[in-house]
Amino acid sequence: MKIQQIQVKIINDSRGDKTLEVNLSLGGQEVFASVPSGKSKGKGEVFVLDSELALNKFAEIKPKLEEDFSSLEEFDQFLIELDGTTGKTNLGGNLILALSIAFTKAWAKLQNLQTFQLIAQISKQEIKLPLCFFNLIEGGVHAKNSVPFQEYLFIPKTNSPKQSLETVTKAIPFLSGKIKKEYGELKQGDEGGFAVPSNDPIAGLKILQEVFSLQFGLDVAASAMKQEKGYVVGEKVMSGEELLGLYKKIVNEFNVLSIEDPFAEEDWGSFTAATRELGKKVWIVGDDLTTTNVERIKLAQEKQAINAVIIKPNQIGSVTETIQAANLAKSYGWKIIVSHRSGETMDTFIADLVVGLGADAIKSGCPLQKERLVKYERLVEIEKTWHT
Ligand code: PEP
Ligand code: MG
Repeated sequence: MKIQQIQVKIINDSRGDKTLEVNLSLGGQEVFASVPSGKSKGKGEVFVLDSELALNKFAEIKPKLEEDFSSLEEFDQFLIELDGTTGKTNLGGNLILALSIAFTKAWAKLQNLQTFQLIAQISKQEIKLPLCFFNLIEGGVHAKNSVPFQEYLFIPKTNSPKQSLETVTKAIPFLSGKIKKEYGELKQGDEGGFAVPSNDPIAGLKILQEVFSLQFGLDVAASAMKQEKGYVVGEKVMSGEELLGLYKKIVNEFNVLSIEDPFAEEDWGSFTAATRELGKKVWIVGDDLTTTNVERIKLAQEKQAINAVIIKPNQIGSVTETIQAANLAKSYGWKIIVSHRSGETMDTFIADLVVGLGADAIKSGCPLQKERLVKYERLVEIEKTWHT
């Protein structure tokens, strides 16, 4: 099947930064796809090409895209070979992924499938509705003058996105009222969650617990806290062992389901200790550690470093490789969390991805921001219309 029409333009993401949007037509089916961008990034992530340069690159390769493609895998492989580098430094992971997502959507439509159904066919996984991880309190590099950990997530105990969204929507006004009363101000971080001006790493959990008596998650994003002298957590400097001690205390006090990037991405020993000591109770999640990269995922398995993983398509730069990474992690028995990025667009692809991968959870920020909400709403639509 030949691509009839394809264009790339620059749009703004939720942070107001430039990113790419692809408009593609295949067999009379027109689709749009856009890509997000991260701020607390793992070193293993593929290269992001400046948007203006990506437009030039696209103009160069456009004639080559007028080929016959007979599957998504073939299309992605063509782009990967055209790029010819391991880190996608030639075409940019952002340009390749935008094209890849657009092709996935159009290919699904062409076969009268929903995008998640095509992904399920390729991944050979059973479709499944996920738990929703709502990022309600933000700190770290996503919110200035706020708590030390990056994300304090609220996780309703249901695989119904409709119920999850209803629960969180009802509770957000109580949470915002409480923060305003206690801290006198209401500021939001990059993902629409609230900033809490405190140095205490537990402050975010305490305030969530007062409003929701349910389960929580943390994304510590510890690479950002790591300095030569140790982990800088608010006013304290901690060794890996001390930080693990803090996590043990947190797990005893709060109903914590998951801890993402509890240590810096090169601190394998601490990850392994955390998984050994807490892994029976808690999902120890790799994000910056694994960067949706099969080689890093294999290494993490060898080191028994994690029992759960974040899957972000733009860390690796194509849909096919994203599916391969998720399937490999799943074969190890790990939990799979599909995630947005802190700079997001209105594209809802990750909602279809999480269902089609048969993954366990989605992380799409706080539904107060429209770029986050549309992903949860797409899941509600999938639940209502397609999930039987
Ligand atoms: C994360 O660390 O999980 C995250 C979503 O942040 P960013 O997109 O900035 O990497
Ligand atoms: Mg993370």
